[in-house]
Amino acid sequence: MNDCIFCGIAEGKIPSQKVFEDDSVVAFRDLSPKAPVHVLIVPKKHIQSVAHFQTVDKDVAAHIFVDVAPKLAKDLGIADDGFRLVINTGKNGGQSVNHLHVHLLGGRKMTWPPG
Ligand code: 5GP
Ligand code: ZN
Repeated sequence: MNDCIFCGIAEGKIPSQKVFEDDSVVAFRDLSPKAPVHVLIVPKKHIQSVAHFQTVDKDVAAHIFVDVAPKLAKDLGIADDGFRLVINTGKNGGQSVNHLHVHLLGGRKMTWPPG
């Protein structure tokens, strides 16, 4: 997906403040942070959204939630006080970049319900 911003970031062609990277996932600071800690966790494979997950994507989905998100929350100092994971999906979900990403937000008290 050569016109995809997050593919460009994953490939290192577009600069970002990376906080984590392995074979299947990259995590970097959001350009427009909505909390003191705001990181995007992104599969390197171009998956458009949660609605586009395929069975073959189970490993990377589990990796993001079981391994990467809790580790990053701990490393970034927000695990103890709590944090929020958000996946905006599609038009009504407020998704603006069509490459699946998990927002990791923390460092302040979150409100509910979301807007
Ligand atoms: P969405 O609205 O799709 O859930 O989230 C997209 C997020 O990507 C937004 O929070 C936005 O600030 C962030 N974003 C958009 N373009 C870039 C970029 O080029 N670099 C980084 N680091 N974040 C971006
Ligand atoms: Zn992409």
